[in-house]
Amino acid sequence: MPHSKNYSYYNLPLILLFLLAVSILTILAISSIERETKEQVKESLNTVLQITLNTYQTSIERRKRDVAEIAMSDSVVHISQSLLQNNLSERPILLRRVQQIMRPKLGRENDLSFAIISPQRINIGVSDAASLGRKSLIHLQRPDYLTRAFAGETMFIPTLISHPLNTAGESQSRLGVFVAAPIKTAGKVIAVLAVQLNLSDFVTRITALARLGKSGETYAFDRNGMLITESRFDHQLRKIGLIGRDEKSIFRIRIADPGGNMLEGYRPELTASERPLTLMAGDAVRRKAGFNLNGYRDYRGVNVFGAWLWDESLGFGITTEIDVDEALRPFFQTRLIIIGVLSITIMMALGLMVHVNRIQGARKRELQEAHGMLEQRVADRTWELNEVRRSLEFANRELEIQAKTDGLTGLANRRSFDQHLQSEWLRCRRDQSSLGIILLDIDYFKNYNDRYGHPSGDSCLKTIAGVLRKQQSNRRPGDLIARYGGEEFVIILPAASDSHVGSVCEQLRSDIERLQIQHEASKLAEKVVTVSIGYAIEHQFHDSHAHTLLSLADQALYQAKDAGRNCVIGATACIDSEEEV
Ligand code: GH3
Ligand code: MG
Ligand code: MG
Repeated sequence: MPHSKNYSYYNLPLILLFLLAVSILTILAISSIERETKEQVKESLNTVLQITLNTYQTSIERRKRDVAEIAMSDSVVHISQSLLQNNLSERPILLRRVQQIMRPKLGRENDLSFAIISPQRINIGVSDAASLGRKSLIHLQRPDYLTRAFAGETMFIPTLISHPLNTAGESQSRLGVFVAAPIKTAGKVIAVLAVQLNLSDFVTRITALARLGKSGETYAFDRNGMLITESRFDHQLRKIGLIGRDEKSIFRIRIADPGGNMLEGYRPELTASERPLTLMAGDAVRRKAGFNLNGYRDYRGVNVFGAWLWDESLGFGITTEIDVDEALRPFFQTRLIIIGVLSITIMMALGLMVHVNRIQGARKRELQEAHGMLEQRVADRTWELNEVRRSLEFANRELEIQAKTDGLTGLANRRSFDQHLQSEWLRCRRDQSSLGIILLDIDYFKNYNDRYGHPSGDSCLKTIAGVLRKQQSNRRPGDLIARYGGEEFVIILPAASDSHVGSVCEQLRSDIERLQIQHEASKLAEKVVTVSIGYAIEHQFHDSHAHTLLSLADQALYQAKDAGRNCVIGATACIDSEEEV
């Protein structure tokens, strides 16, 4: 059946609805996991950033204590006093002295340089002879800091130091950080000791510790957005050409957005100095702290999450960033697993539906086949039953016919005649029509039997029956020819005129005689089989009965016998064959 294939797809909308619900729940779960993951990333970034900041602050405190201690040491106080006396002839010796005193102290922390600054803000004792006798750089850029140092405070001073020309020939400024501590005698500040910290060392040591995962990086940058720590990704930066083969990223990388992921082959159109700062650096140099969990490009163009701040006391910004890919990896993995499980679920649900559908289809076809077979079997049985019924009916009819038929001649038998006479009698009486009865008896038939034997007698009976049947071949309804008994026959002719009945009788008599069946034992002269016929016709039906009519015919037959046989007699008169014809 054509629709059997789609049989159970009626539950398809239900399954689709279920799958839709599962998918929506999955999407909600995935986005919730994403939110959760990002929240954790944000927390980690903020924690790292805060710890970094705290570490800087404690380190600065420690370095301030260091420098204050050096400034208060007797040797430094003593040499400062000597330097302040401004004895020109002694100056070279004093300078060597102070350098000797300071070198081991600076060496401990890898500090870069020192300066002893007079109250007039002049460098009177320095590590670098070039700046001797000059105005202090700190005074030129951060006079307030120096003033506070002269007031007795130990200060951490982020400031700019001018740097000689770089390789590209541009004048470059870079950040220098100093710790300035007062040099006192008898509680009075006589000078200030400024120590220039090794920035890269100082800053990088801390940021290098604060790295999340494989791609997390914490770095610091100055107010121009220049990197002031060493990058974790120097090898990558060399590969993408942001720094030269033997260069280091510190002080060379501008935290600017290249416009695309350079690690994936993106080549920026703008030069490094023309590029806008990254989203993070742009914010930070405007003194805005913040975080971003939507992803933005870092100085390599890699998509990262980040948190950042600008610390005025440090004089630089700090950020901690992590590649989006790594930060969201647990989420991506979870999402992959969930989507995988969901896909398998969907596939299994659909597969199961198709499978169930097929089974149901097959089951239905089997049922239909069984049903068809059953129907066929019922049809077969019905046909067989009908056949049996038909043969029974046939047998019945046969029996009925047999019951009404004479076995020897095939004509109606006596019983059939009796019934027929009765019904025709009633019918003719009702219709007020006539009813004729003809009785026919073979002459000297006993003799015939005696002479030719019984079987010949039988065949003679059949021959005569044949003549009767033939003569009556165009019978009218209600006519009947029957064997009345022995060698006697009877004919019923309803609604027939007297003359018609008479002529039928005579026709029969002459037909039989004309057969010329030899009958040597006949007492008649012809020596052939002949018959005597008597008939009677009823017209009135008043108070009369069928058997009366029959006995009238019988009497007529006797009269025919008496009249010499081979003749026809009507109920009242004997009509000779010759006369009748
Ligand atoms: P009638 O001319 O007076 O009629 O003389 P009939 O010999 O014909 O009359 P009867 O009544 O004396 O004899 C009738 C005979 O018919 C007796 C019987 O042997 C014969 N007969 C009756 N039934 C059959 C039959 O079925 N087969 C044969 N072969 N003979 C029969
Ligand atoms: Mg007889
Ligand atoms: Mg007879």
